[in-house]
Amino acid sequence: MKKIRKTLVIFAVLAALIISSGCEFSPSEPTIGSDAQLSESSSSMEESSSEPEPVVEPEPVVEPEPLPEPVVHISATEVNKGGYITLAVENIDLYGCYFTDFLGYERTFRGKNGIWYCFIPVKTAADAGEYTLELSFGDFYYSENITVLERVAPTQYLTVSEKTLDETLEDAAVRAAFDEFYQKYRWVNTGAALWNGEFVLPLGNRYYKETTPFGTFRTFSNGATEWHNATDMAVAGGTPIYATNSGRILFADWLGLTGNTVLIDHGYGIISWHYHMNKIDVNDGDMVEKGQLIGEVGTTGLSTGNHLHFGISVGGIFVDPMAMIGTTPEFDFWNALEEEETFEEPALSEPEISEEPKEDYEKVIVG
Ligand SMILES: [Zn+2]
Repeated sequence: MKKIRKTLVIFAVLAALIISSGCEFSPSEPTIGSDAQLSESSSSMEESSSEPEPVVEPEPVVEPEPLPEPVVHISATEVNKGGYITLAVENIDLYGCYFTDFLGYERTFRGKNGIWYCFIPVKTAADAGEYTLELSFGDFYYSENITVLERVAPTQYLTVSEKTLDETLEDAAVRAAFDEFYQKYRWVNTGAALWNGEFVLPLGNRYYKETTPFGTFRTFSNGATEWHNATDMAVAGGTPIYATNSGRILFADWLGLTGNTVLIDHGYGIISWHYHMNKIDVNDGDMVEKGQLIGEVGTTGLSTGNHLHFGISVGGIFVDPMAMIGTTPEFDFWNALEEEETFEEPALSEPEISEEPKEDYEKVIVG
């Protein structure tokens, strides 16, 4: 009895719906109820009801949505030697876009979640001054004025024993092997972002002495000179070395000039370089997590004492690795956006929400 009454009620409601809307009824519409009885009653309704002739309406003319304009975010327009700029572009597919940057290097974009990233590093040996960054791809054109800032380079004279010099800088085969290795790996640009958040110190919280900072102009006792493109971290031999970020082991082997050497590919052309190690605990091709043990500090190759030579290259150019610690390439980008928005927002004058931006700001810093 109860079932019949419910069926009748549903019947009446359905009939009213059909008359009022003229819409085709779908039994799966959730407007009526969700009982199993619903499907029974609706099928009986279909047999007995006479549906009105469907009105054929002309297809509405759909205007194509105008494509959104590409938006370019740039992390900075003033950059130190040994720093890098992040370009992030939205609303355009930049696959296959190659351009020459303002220092003459070919650059490309890597896509992640609909945003196309390009990192533009500035080598230590670049001239300070004004540059124009220009790129075009199809109808897309972008240009920006870039200022490269002067950087005071420390100098250093390093006395190396005759024996070590003979085995390293003075050995043509050793130097040739290093050149081959260097050219092979510095331009690796894997199309996957393998890093995971901020870069961390490779010696953990261990105290170390920075014996040669990044960007030092160094003269060896045999007269050879170089820009030191990494940070030398002096610490006891055998100290564990941890992956500065997640990635894939690109190289884990002995080289005459740099001793036991490990390269980690963090993706998008970002690579960390570790020289003079006592021991290597990883193999070529291994995937490593940030903080994972990769080996121990030593004094192998062209080295005068136990230390880790720790470098990071971005797009084939060495940047200041210590400036990378505590940041991610994406963090720099989003941080720049945050500053932009805070600058434009007049909301601080309204007292009821004046606390909000402060909290958000702290969240960004901690996260
Ligand atoms: Zn070094």
